[in-house]
Amino acid sequence: MNKKILLIGSGPSSLSACIRLLEEENVEIYLVDGKDIENLETRGCIYSKKNKNTQSRYKKLFKHNLDSSLQAEFEDAPKPSLQFGGYSTVWGGALNNIEEEYIHHWKDVEQDLNLFIPNFKKIINFCSNSEKFSINNPQNLPIIEREERLIQRLKKIKNNNLSVDFSTIALSSKVNSNICEECGEYTWSCRSNSSWSSTSLFKELIASKKVTYIKNTSVFKIEENKINNTCTVFTSKEQSHEIKFDKVFVGAGAIGSSKIVLNSFEDITKVEIKTNDLISIPLINLSRKGKKRHTFTDLYIKYNTTKTNLFAQYYGYSDNLLNLSEGAVPIVRYIKKLFKPFLQYSGGIFLYLDQDSSSTFLIEKEDEILVIKKGSNPKRIELYKSLKGFILTLLKARIICLPLGIWRKYGKSNHYGAQFSMANKDEETNNINSDVLGRIKKMNDVHFIDSSVLPVLSPGPITLIVMLNAYRIVNEAINET
Ligand SMILES: Cc1cc2nc3c(=O)[nH]c(=O)nc-3n(C[C@H](O)[C@H](O)[C@H](O)COP(=O)(O)OP(=O)(O)OC[C@H]3O[C@@H](n4cnc5c(N)ncnc54)[C@H](O)[C@@H]3O)c2cc1C
Repeated sequence: MNKKILLIGSGPSSLSACIRLLEEENVEIYLVDGKDIENLETRGCIYSKKNKNTQSRYKKLFKHNLDSSLQAEFEDAPKPSLQFGGYSTVWGGALNNIEEEYIHHWKDVEQDLNLFIPNFKKIINFCSNSEKFSINNPQNLPIIEREERLIQRLKKIKNNNLSVDFSTIALSSKVNSNICEECGEYTWSCRSNSSWSSTSLFKELIASKKVTYIKNTSVFKIEENKINNTCTVFTSKEQSHEIKFDKVFVGAGAIGSSKIVLNSFEDITKVEIKTNDLISIPLINLSRKGKKRHTFTDLYIKYNTTKTNLFAQYYGYSDNLLNLSEGAVPIVRYIKKLFKPFLQYSGGIFLYLDQDSSSTFLIEKEDEILVIKKGSNPKRIELYKSLKGFILTLLKARIICLPLGIWRKYGKSNHYGAQFSMANKDEETNNINSDVLGRIKKMNDVHFIDSSVLPVLSPGPITLIVMLNAYRIVNEAINET
């Protein structure tokens, strides 16, 4: 008999689970993601003069697709994306694997998750100049001399806390030398769908009937029937979906999944979501050679001390990047008026802080309504020492950080989760923990596969790590029923 499997969410975590499920013979895959297949406008250059003022159109669409059933006590609080493809329709495409210093958090997981990376080679167009990235022959991202020189200078600095590498990016199309006539940068970088997203493969799978899409269905709660081993999915408080599933994989994103958990268990009234705070730092790079023609991050710079871990995504200047970064770095509005040759010396860093140096946010049940609130905001004496060390080290590489950025706390960095972190066997925690297969509260067949169940939020890009973990959970869980 076929197993009926439900995937909740059409973002990267769910797609990763789906790829593994497609290797199985007797499974029927169903998908819900809260909406119908709608997508962002994908035609044309988002920076062209014609699209001026409508460039924020893509931001507007993004806002319209947020789950507004959650209330928030603070401005710009993070909310789940109800877009087909989830946040991968607006993300920056930066990828990273599990770094050595975080491997011990995964000690109950038997496999080396990085070994799963080649399984995604067919679906993601990986671009990387890093020798460390575990895939054969990824495409190279064009790096201009200015950034090449910078990485050489950073590598020469003798400091055990510092390490530097080229970035890894997930693109939706191949890198080539085609230049957009409207913006003057590469065509593979100036479209709203330039970064890879889970949408096109999911659409193909739905069209070829490998996945059954249940449209306009948002999951309210899930109940397990332990007698006949089935899961019932409720689309509102009272209404259940008629199909009973053998297994459910929940990839609704950390907030979406928390909402389902809060609605499913009366005795859970509050969830605390961990984050990586983000400091965006404008900078001056005292060398200028070459013209960068894309908006992706060029380098990853890590600065790890015994107390704190910092992860910086370095972006060298490009004309389009300047337009794109107005929201993230307010000073850009003024810098924009500067003389172009001078702008070529500018750039920016997205500096992600480790989980222990970062704030948290809460989702609380209040009279049946879910409210997003600020959580803890730790004291950061060690962090400030580390920040100072990092900035002085960059200075040695002729990078001057300007004290004009903004600090994104309480999930505004878009990197959050670990609220149901997979507890290591010998660990006692106050959290609502999941087991190694992403199950909480003794559930048998409901597995959380998104960032909710990461054992730790390592600073830097988290999505590939989420995808690797989702793949692993399905790999181990599918033969259980
Ligand atoms: C602006 C921005 C830039 C980012 N840049 C990067 C980056 O460069 N690198 C990186 O690693 N990460 C980045 N991220 C984070 C990255 O987008 C997420 O880590 C990733 O999308 C998570 O994938 P997911 O599948 O777990 O969840 P999501 O992408 O959030 O997808 C969740 C899915 O669940 C569905 N859903 C939610 N609630 C329900 C419900 N109740 N019922 C049914 N369906 C539901 C949604 O419709 C959606 O399809 C960025 C995020 C943002 C917002």
